[in-house]
Amino acid sequence: MSKNLQPLWSKNVSIKDGELHCAGISATSLAAEFKTPTFFLDEDDFRSRALTWNSELSKAFGPQAGRVYYAAKAFICVEVARWIADMGIGIDVCTGGELAVALKGGIKPENIELHGNNKSIEEIEQAVSAGVGIIVIDSLFEIERVAAIAQSAGKVQKVLLRLTAGVEAHTHESIATAHEDVKFGFSIASGAAWQAVIQTKKHSTLELHGFHSHIGSQIFETEPFGLAADRLIELLAKFNAEFGEQLPELDLGGGYGIAYLEDEAEIQASDVLKTLATVVKQSCAKHSLDVPKISIEPGRTIIGPTMFTLYTVGTTKVVTLDNGSTRHYVSVDGGMSDNLRTALYGAEYTAIIANRQSSSKTTATRIVGKHCETGDIIIKDIDMPADIAPGDLLATPATGAYGRSMATNYNHITRPPVVAIKDAKARVILRRESIEDLLRLDI
Ligand code: PLP
Repeated sequence: MSKNLQPLWSKNVSIKDGELHCAGISATSLAAEFKTPTFFLDEDDFRSRALTWNSELSKAFGPQAGRVYYAAKAFICVEVARWIADMGIGIDVCTGGELAVALKGGIKPENIELHGNNKSIEEIEQAVSAGVGIIVIDSLFEIERVAAIAQSAGKVQKVLLRLTAGVEAHTHESIATAHEDVKFGFSIASGAAWQAVIQTKKHSTLELHGFHSHIGSQIFETEPFGLAADRLIELLAKFNAEFGEQLPELDLGGGYGIAYLEDEAEIQASDVLKTLATVVKQSCAKHSLDVPKISIEPGRTIIGPTMFTLYTVGTTKVVTLDNGSTRHYVSVDGGMSDNLRTALYGAEYTAIIANRQSSSKTTATRIVGKHCETGDIIIKDIDMPADIAPGDLLATPATGAYGRSMATNYNHITRPPVVAIKDAKARVILRRESIEDLLRLDI
């Protein structure tokens, strides 16, 4: 284990005599009280990461700082929504389900933004009647749908148009979203974006508030964010020239990269937002525009590092490979149902033995789950102590984002709970599913 636990682990994680602790509670006691697999969430870390992005946005853009909309898709439950409400930041939801959780957690509707490339009529109705601050429109069909629903509700709905800025972000193709060949939004280059502007302007029940762009996820370079902003500002200038007014807001999405492996860095809010502010100011000056309000939608960077997953090892075996070397298979009590990212797009994680020190030499290891798939892999290749044995606890850091939120019931497994830890106290905020929960859906 390297000396520097952050940014890979949350800020209250420490290792004492080889055992992992969070806010002073040992992995062994956490496992005894809450069973495994379980996601443990460091509440202070979540709050401080959210507040850091919020204050850095204000520092970078001053009075032109818009909102931080926490991206609920990374992870949300009612208690986390309460923390967000409490901190007064915004939330980006992209389904009626996420919207319901946000509202139940007490987030003010005006701080909620609804996304989605194929929102149902019911979801749009739910959002309009709740009074969400912004609906981000994704297609020409949706312009008509939102306009009609706002009309029936007797409201004028603030909307942003989601634009694809033609930026190729350096990340996995499944999570790059702003090149031309994607399902999201209106392409600027093809003219679809301008057509959407014209069509939106025809509706008196829609208030076009600005443009949105999300270039992808797990991005480390700052340039693509700036490039996307520059292209959106060009369109703001065109709008200004055509209609003689300036749209008030640009939402530049999320996508800020975090560390998943030892010695990896994470993108710093202060760095990326400062750079972004410089680009935005220069670009606005070039087009003689006032700087609009700038909002962002970080998900992974706020929740990702705040959680780790604790598993118990059930079985192990050693296989001999074609080249004569060996691989240690270590099976844990979860798998692709609680961490889909490895199977879905080859995401990389690391893990440690969480309950004890080991002085055993390391060996090539694969951490696998309990599902009926060879691809049920949590970590494909990792060197771990050769003496890992049934009963050992393994902890995987940085599982807060797209872990529990992408969890499935494959093989009728019950999804793990989320336990929040704060001030040396741990409490369940999202309980473990039970067999009764699974059977409840059967008719
Ligand atoms: N905003 C939008 C529109 C997204 O699609 C996503 C992720 O898919 C996010 C924000 C959050 O991205 P991240 O969790 O990488 O910050």
